[in-house]
Amino acid sequence: MKQYNSLKEIQEDISKNRLTCKELVENYLQNIEKNKHLNAFIETYQSDASSKASIIDKKIENKTAGKLAGLVVGIKDNICYKSHPATAGSKILNNFKSTYSATVVEKLINEDAIIIGRLNCDEFAMGSTTESSVYGPTRNPLNPNFVPGGSSGGSAAAVQANLCHATLGTDTGGSIRQPAAFCGVFGLKPTYGLVSRHGLIAYASSFDQIGPITKSIEDLQLITAVISGPDDFDSTCVAKKINQQKKSPNKGPKKFAIVNQAVNFPKIDPEIKTHFNQLVKKIKTLGHTVEYVDIPLLDYLVPAYYILTTAEASSNLSRYDGIKYGHQKSGKNIDQLIQNTRTDGFGTEVKRRILLGTFVLSAGHYESYYSKAQKVRRLIKNETELILSKHNYILLPTTPELPFKIGHKKEPTELYNQDIFTVQANLSGHPALALPIKKTKNQFFSSAQIIGPYFSEQDMLGTASSIISN
Ligand code: GLN
Repeated sequence: MKQYNSLKEIQEDISKNRLTCKELVENYLQNIEKNKHLNAFIETYQSDASSKASIIDKKIENKTAGKLAGLVVGIKDNICYKSHPATAGSKILNNFKSTYSATVVEKLINEDAIIIGRLNCDEFAMGSTTESSVYGPTRNPLNPNFVPGGSSGGSAAAVQANLCHATLGTDTGGSIRQPAAFCGVFGLKPTYGLVSRHGLIAYASSFDQIGPITKSIEDLQLITAVISGPDDFDSTCVAKKINQQKKSPNKGPKKFAIVNQAVNFPKIDPEIKTHFNQLVKKIKTLGHTVEYVDIPLLDYLVPAYYILTTAEASSNLSRYDGIKYGHQKSGKNIDQLIQNTRTDGFGTEVKRRILLGTFVLSAGHYESYYSKAQKVRRLIKNETELILSKHNYILLPTTPELPFKIGHKKEPTELYNQDIFTVQANLSGHPALALPIKKTKNQFFSSAQIIGPYFSEQDMLGTASSIISN
């Protein structure tokens, strides 16, 4: 099937009668079938998607179709879609069907996007490899022996393998950007509060954001514009919307702050470093200013992130007791039932994080861990804001390493350290974009990350687009 880089190309083919939504959906379904070994989709909504496609084809004919007509999307398994299962890759939500749709899903459907299925992810979005899903690991389409990254590994793999046009992922500590980097596609974590979390199965609520994964910056812009905006169901969602129509204010030279500690990170892959430095050179050639800055707190990012997110997770995941949702394992009494359900329903990584979270929140340890990590979070926010008050953007690699083989990394802390470059934007709430720089020798991609001021998505995407198109 023809590869489309942007929705615009699809819509053009539809308008010239070279393609219908119905054919498009059929093509993607065939492609999903052919690529079953990737294990990107957990389930497809075949008949639902096909009948929606026919309706949208009619609407296109009648010129009443929404802005996303022709967009076929997959959603991560932790985003609710009315009357469809949503299990966050966990056995504990086995057989759970959502009674309502997430705000993002409603917004996509209102603009005539077609939801084609749900995508594999690490259990409760905890992980960097998509290996901790109850459905088994997703494979990287660039080389199926390698991980696609995580936790939105299914979402990134599906875009790279052309199983659908775009996907939604979620990013608590890098889960959109890191798999986008590992699969060589684009991913955006919006500013905290730009996109509603209503209908997202919570991991760490003060970090979680939903965002798009695509083959082009143009589509990131378009989808973010549709899914952003205030929502009565999410009080942390602010009254801002990315205005697509507004003339993009991205003209003129920008000031980039390059993080010394990231470029000179001892364990950085040499190819990532070389490609990143080439990108910096290009940015300078295009007339932008580049300045090297220090983020001395870099070593504290991962510890602070894991203390705070596990604390929030231990609280968020207490609702899975075998009574309210999904999986249930019987017991002699109610306490036994809850214990049996949680013992059987949660995987190892989730249990580890619940234990860690309850530990850091416990009366005896709260002051030494949770409260300290909150203070570190404030310092990181201040430091990031200070840099962004003197520069337009922060630029750093998305990940220190290229993809590794499935089953290769077993030590949890080894995996946690993968998040070193991505968690800053979640701790501070800033928007961050991952974009592929260049193909590597082993056919993966190096990836760069741009962090911008709060709600600067439009300008950030515009600038990124002008850099890569030049
Ligand atoms: N790898 C990080 C973690 O395991 C990021 C997860 C995420 O962003 N959902 O927590």
